[in-house]
Amino acid sequence: MSLPIFLIGARGCGKTTVGELLAQGLGYAFRDTDHYLQHSTGKTVAEIVAAEGWEGFRRHESEALSAVTAPETIIATGGGMVLAETNRRFMQERGQVIWLQASATVLAARLAHYPQTSQRPTLTGRSITEEVAEVLDERASLYQQTAHHMIDAMQVPQLIVAQILSALSLAHAS
Ligand code: ADP
Ligand code: MG
Repeated sequence: MSLPIFLIGARGCGKTTVGELLAQGLGYAFRDTDHYLQHSTGKTVAEIVAAEGWEGFRRHESEALSAVTAPETIIATGGGMVLAETNRRFMQERGQVIWLQASATVLAARLAHYPQTSQRPTLTGRSITEEVAEVLDERASLYQQTAHHMIDAMQVPQLIVAQILSALSLAHAS
């Protein structure tokens, strides 16, 4: 198992937290498409969106995805990575895709509790809980159709990592 592992899911589902732990466990590299974008453009996500709109941001996001993809790498993706079909196909074909699934209530609570992680401009201008529920509604079927494995991300991170490892070795054996 040396293929890249892509973590997908909504903002706050734990892609960075779980991805770093998983990378440590496997001795893999850890990359984050949002971090890559910030370093390669010298701008925050919010600044890219302000300067180029969401469409411009999505273009950079596809470039970031292919730039960070390599064997033995855990890749934490932006919450909207699955919106583009080209990104969905890329991840499915190039590696194993894991959806970290969490309810809107849990996601909103995490984002409210750790505001530094919700650095993106709101997509709808509504309350965080309403926005999270709406965005999740729109994207859940895309996460589901893209993922090879869905993992309950509302457990402690160590358990999530253990379940990912178990899902991947089952997938490998079959
Ligand atoms: P993402 O990268 O998917 O946006 P993060 O890994 O940044 O999500 O996690 C968002 C916030 O939720 C962080 O403050 C993190 O500490 C917390 N968090 C992540 N995973 C869990 C978990 N399994 N249980 C409790 N809190 C979590
Ligand atoms: Mg993250």
